[in-house]
Amino acid sequence: MTNFLSLTIITSRESIFDVIQACMNIRTSVRPIFSYANRIPSRPSLAFSRTLFTSHRPPKNWKAAGASIATSTLAFAALANTHQIHSQAATEDKMAPVAASTNGQSTKPRHKVVIIGSGPAGHTAAIYLARAELKPVLFEGMLANGIAAGGQLTTTTDVENFPGFPDGIRGPEIMDKFRAQSVKHGTEIFTETISKVDLSSRPFKFWREFSEDSEPELADTIIMATGASARRMNLPGEEKYWQSGISACAVCDGAVPIFRNKPLVVIGGGDSAAEEATYLTKYGSHVYVLVRRDELRASKIMAKRLLNHPKVTILFNHVALEAKGDGELLKQLRIKDIKSGEERDLDANGLFYAIGHVPATDLVKGQVDCDSDGYITTVPGTAQTSVKGLFAAGDVQDKKYRQAVTSAGSGCIAALEAERLLAEEEEYENINEKDAQTHPNNADPSKAGL
Ligand SMILES: Cc1cc2nc3c(=O)[nH]c(=O)nc-3n(C[C@H](O)[C@H](O)[C@H](O)COP(=O)(O)OP(=O)(O)OC[C@H]3O[C@@H](n4cnc5c(N)ncnc54)[C@H](O)[C@@H]3O)c2cc1C
Repeated sequence: MTNFLSLTIITSRESIFDVIQACMNIRTSVRPIFSYANRIPSRPSLAFSRTLFTSHRPPKNWKAAGASIATSTLAFAALANTHQIHSQAATEDKMAPVAASTNGQSTKPRHKVVIIGSGPAGHTAAIYLARAELKPVLFEGMLANGIAAGGQLTTTTDVENFPGFPDGIRGPEIMDKFRAQSVKHGTEIFTETISKVDLSSRPFKFWREFSEDSEPELADTIIMATGASARRMNLPGEEKYWQSGISACAVCDGAVPIFRNKPLVVIGGGDSAAEEATYLTKYGSHVYVLVRRDELRASKIMAKRLLNHPKVTILFNHVALEAKGDGELLKQLRIKDIKSGEERDLDANGLFYAIGHVPATDLVKGQVDCDSDGYITTVPGTAQTSVKGLFAAGDVQDKKYRQAVTSAGSGCIAALEAERLLAEEEEYENINEKDAQTHPNNADPSKAGL
């Protein structure tokens, strides 16, 4: 039995990267749990943390930050080693195993339900499963796909359309509440990323990041709630004005005051762009749609609606070059006519990307049916995938709505379906066992003449 410490780290925006570096250095013995309420890492520091974490190489500004990182790392590691840090003791045997594996595949714990992902879908599934006493284990990720534990909402400021919060709520704060509710009902949460799964037979096998060479852990069912991330253009100025004028979700952000009666720009030429632009006409003074090609990819009906809208101008053959602002908010977009080569500044208080999302499905690629855009396909109206026992919830299987509340809803569906499958299988096993006891010949097909 290996003991390990579970630490709750409260950190400031400025020192988040110090802490992550510290955790990296002592990650073998410490499993950190970040409390992210009201602690959105500033963009540069988040990017910096990712560089540290993914490359394990010093980032460009290493020298400047080096001294403080080294100090905090050493201090943190020393404290951890001497068990002086305020900590929640936890041991490996608290991992909610259903049973040690009995089929010779692994001596690691076997869980009834494992949830991968920590957005609204994952936590809603966890709440339902924990209340059903199925002891769910949830892996919230360690900056998996570059997104903090808690998911996409941790990257936004105000969430105004999640029911139950009439005054709105900060994105990180609502995810803290989701997490607290999961924990309250008994979910075991690990701040680790699952890097490999084997879905070829049940129980499924899975591995945590950096433990790929060790024995797998086992899961009777898995809920994939790994989410998606919006494609971005990485324009100069984008980091600075992201969520300060730049967004990837018109439905989420369109109604906020900074966009009211102001010129807005949508980039993209497909159905999503057409939908987002039409939606934004309710709020903006005018909506420009930047399309790289000389035609829209959107369906005929959507394209027609857009072309005929009095508040919409489509700028065909145009690309964006730079996001410009006053240091606080986006004010203009530098654009280029790729046919004439002419460049100009377009007044724009809002810039909305509608160039697609990337679902986080690398983990299961080739093992489960996905659509042409990589989203896991589910049986309509359910969370069932093409692999029995694997359920998908949230943005990873939804390219249409992509909202916190729809993700939460599908998390609930996934949990109820996992619960039902496990109950059915348990019942079936019990009947077989009983049958074998009362009619011993049935247990042995050869004796039963089969
Ligand atoms: C800037 C922004 C603002 C938004 N505003 C709103 C809004 O106001 N209202 C609204 O309804 N919706 C909003 N949305 C959309 C909403 O955030 C998403 O629809 C929702 O978060 C999707 O939830 P999810 O549970 O599918 O996963 P996500 O929120 O995408 O979370 C998935 C989590 O799983 C983790 N993960 C991924 N892979 C692994 C792995 N292998 N192992 C462990 N963990 C892993 C990720 O790191 C991530 O933390 C916004 C989105 C963005 C980007």
